[in-house]
Amino acid sequence: MEFKVLQLYSNDMNIYGDCGNILALKRRLTLYNITAKIIEYNQGDAWPKNIDIIMGGGGQDSGQNKIINDLYKISSNLQNLAQNNTPMLMVCGLYQLFGKFFKTKDGETLNGIEIFNIETYGKDKRLIGNVIAKSNQFGTLVGYENHSGQTYLLDNIEPLAELVTLGAGNNEQDKNEGCIYKNCLGTYLHGSFLPKNPTITDWLINQAAKNRGFNLTTINTQKYQYRAKGINYLTGVEYFTKRARQIAKKLKR
Ligand code: GLN
Repeated sequence: MEFKVLQLYSNDMNIYGDCGNILALKRRLTLYNITAKIIEYNQGDAWPKNIDIIMGGGGQDSGQNKIINDLYKISSNLQNLAQNNTPMLMVCGLYQLFGKFFKTKDGETLNGIEIFNIETYGKDKRLIGNVIAKSNQFGTLVGYENHSGQTYLLDNIEPLAELVTLGAGNNEQDKNEGCIYKNCLGTYLHGSFLPKNPTITDWLINQAAKNRGFNLTTINTQKYQYRAKGINYLTGVEYFTKRARQIAKKLKR
């Protein structure tokens, strides 16, 4: 079984290792005996067919400016896929552009593609530092934020995490982080995000599997043995994930 994973704008929207999310997804897919075909989409590329999961990262305001016109060209493809429950994860800069608009602190308005019913306003103060956010659905999420844009959720959209306990998340007032609409997730958390937050990785994989008509029940622990140490691959992955999360939870802002 192969899943096609699309990385949006890997050349211009990929900061703080956001493309590492793709590596985590690919690795974790192998635990379910699924191989990942990674497709990078950059400006002017042909739009690929039959995509299972779409990923997008963050970028400077200038990077967002660079890709915005191309994003408009592919917006109906993305909107249709979102409506058809394709799982997506958009981090920071692309999270903002999946909303209604991003008014930058320089007074420019970048209209978004309106998959998320959110608005973003650039402020002079950047929100920078480690974040811990509690999500009813996904448990404790950890990551790192760096953004001038502050995002407000409007109607019919839920936060990804309801309570931020360290850092800001969406904005300085609401104490929530990210958003979820159908199978599309938006977040301010870099990290990379997925290696430290496997509940999200598994959820994306599960939603993609459901779209293909099957449920993932078991992770294949047999197939992946660490050669010398006799611990299986899954144990290794979980060990490092757990350690990374423990460290992240102790970090100061
Ligand atoms: N340029 C946007 C902002 O500053 C997004 C930043 C990011 O992707 N980290 O808000």
